[in-house]
Amino acid sequence: MDRIFTRDWDKPQGHLLSVYEEAGGYGALKKALSMTREAVMGEVKAGNLRGRGGAGFPAGVKWGFMAKDDGGPRYLCINADEGEPGTFKDRYIMERSPHLMLEGAAITSFAINAHACYIYIRGEFYSAARRVREAIDEAVKAGHLGKNIHGSGFDLDIHVHMGAGAYVCGEESALIESIEGKPGKPRSRPPFPAAVGLFNRPTIVNNVETIAAVPSIIERGGAWYAALGTPGNGGTKLYCVSGHVKKPGIFELPMGTPLREIIFTHAGGMRGAAPLKAVIPGGSSTPVLTPQEIDVKMDFDGLKAVGSMLGSAATVVFDDTACMVRSLARLAHFYAHESCGQCTPCREGTHWMAKIVDRIESGKGRAGDIDLLDDVASSIMGNTICPLGDAAAMPVSGFLKKFRVEFEEHVTTGRCRFPPQALAPVKTDRAWV
Ligand code: SF4
Repeated sequence: MDRIFTRDWDKPQGHLLSVYEEAGGYGALKKALSMTREAVMGEVKAGNLRGRGGAGFPAGVKWGFMAKDDGGPRYLCINADEGEPGTFKDRYIMERSPHLMLEGAAITSFAINAHACYIYIRGEFYSAARRVREAIDEAVKAGHLGKNIHGSGFDLDIHVHMGAGAYVCGEESALIESIEGKPGKPRSRPPFPAAVGLFNRPTIVNNVETIAAVPSIIERGGAWYAALGTPGNGGTKLYCVSGHVKKPGIFELPMGTPLREIIFTHAGGMRGAAPLKAVIPGGSSTPVLTPQEIDVKMDFDGLKAVGSMLGSAATVVFDDTACMVRSLARLAHFYAHESCGQCTPCREGTHWMAKIVDRIESGKGRAGDIDLLDDVASSIMGNTICPLGDAAAMPVSGFLKKFRVEFEEHVTTGRCRFPPQALAPVKTDRAWV
């Protein structure tokens, strides 16, 4: 299989420009600069590259939504906030292949005619930010970034902006507010960032993995890239697997690889003797699946068909020693803590949900609590400014739909039959394959 993101991860010093150039790095940028902007965009559309931040919107189509060029500033923002629990892929791209992302940023900026790009990196990712800053310096010195790139007349400055670790800043308009120096709170839309974005100018926001896929599409063509995946879901994907598996890590596999294969072949199967109980397929906000549903193809359409989402492809595996009520309590507290408080259903509802799940988990659940919990989740969904409300409500609805019996047992017996357990330390010598 062609490896796009992890190609240099096994090489010593694989993050350096010299290693990247040795493997043909920045050749795609030179090629793109000799093409028209429309042709670059056309290849990305033909590659069926879908946004890897979670929404899965086709990247080339999104670029095409950018407001008409009036000669004023236009911006590219790269979302490196990576806050979805269970997700740990963008950090690795930045630490191990920073030039892949920078080359993608330069090609994308050329395609949308932006001369400034901001990389919004999560505050905790110090080493990733350092690597990216060093890589920018290397690329500027080599003429891959900066003024008159490769004699093309195209200029691009790339800036690193560190966030402060707020989950909501992974939402594109909150990210833009944060870069502008304001509190990271989502904007009401419309207008969308493609029309009115950073500093009130047209802006495209794309995830790190999305941007890092662009050089390979330009280098080898959209048709080649599309053929790596499934219809409508081009390329390879970085799947992050954590939880009760033998070999947790990041796996680069063709888009649409079955979930069963990811868990039982690539991640080594279940840790210990306990059987599989549940899987969160795409990050904590995506609806949970049962063992009967793991033959699903891990792409945007496959997971939608079973009522879940690919999200950031952060797969969290539970064996049957896990208490689903306790697990949901953890998630509910996370979302309640991360709500920015702008809209009432999210501000109030996330805390109500956390409180009710806590009550059930501690054995003090009341008759009617489960229906009340479900009702609060339904009232949040679709009634908030940004997707954080839905992200908080979807796991609640999913857990109740698939594991309601466990919640009922907690309410009727007042106790939990799954004792709290400490996770055994995981020993792996590689974090990817
Ligand atoms: Fe803020 Fe939640 Fe409303 Fe999003 S949904 S704007 S996080 S209160």
